[in-house]
Amino acid sequence: MSQATLQKGYKYVIEHMEEDDEVTKALPDWVKLEYSHMLKLVGPSSTVHFTSLSSSSIPPLNAHLSAPNPVSSPTSPTIHLESTSKGHPTTLPILELLPTLNPPINKDRVCLLDPRAEKVLSPEDSDLFDVFLYGGILGDDPPRDRTGELRKLGFQGRHLGEKQMTTDTAVGVTKIVVEDGVPLDKIPYTDFPTITFNKHESIEMPFRYVVDEKGEPILPPGMKEHLKADLNRSIDDF
Ligand code: SAH
Repeated sequence: MSQATLQKGYKYVIEHMEEDDEVTKALPDWVKLEYSHMLKLVGPSSTVHFTSLSSSSIPPLNAHLSAPNPVSSPTSPTIHLESTSKGHPTTLPILELLPTLNPPINKDRVCLLDPRAEKVLSPEDSDLFDVFLYGGILGDDPPRDRTGELRKLGFQGRHLGEKQMTTDTAVGVTKIVVEDGVPLDKIPYTDFPTITFNKHESIEMPFRYVVDEKGEPILPPGMKEHLKADLNRSIDDF
């Protein structure tokens, strides 16, 4: 890998496609936890951009992300996702965002991470693309192919294997492949892990995760606590 490529930074663009939390009217907690995690996963010269398909369908994302004190719910601490050196919220849809980037980016330099793409992402793609685009979607089980809305925009696509990942995992895996040069099948994963809270409570996550050196799935910081609180809340609802 040439020295220049090692320094190369990429733009990871998350097209936010989820509704707001009907109670807090703000970004759902899982979104804030995943989006914060992405800022930590990408390389030192890379940035993460949050866009929304159209402000008509989703209140402008930056209205939540840059709010001085986003509502913190009992399940998780307030997470501030203001625009930082790493994270850039915007209300521009992706096709309007590209010409505003510095330098402006051509559509053919954008790679859509798409479970239904023909080709698998590989280290060789590090020279083909400057932007990696994801659906900011809470994975459904089974998937409903909501990524299809982005596929219609005509970007080149790459898949990350046959199992569905959470968006932050997909960002982290992309970084390992294109910034660290590790082939997809050389990354250690776990599929559909069970997160155990205590001897009575656990939850199965229907996704593929990267594992840490202890073989544990790498979740966004705070996600395990959020899942446990959610589990307790749903039990209370019975
Ligand atoms: N349930 C949604 C996908 C949610 S995953 C659907 O069916 O479309 C959220 C995003 O992560 C996807 O939009 C995609 O950009 C990325 N992603 C997740 N798993 C992937 C995979 N195996 N291959 C490529 N992209 C993936």
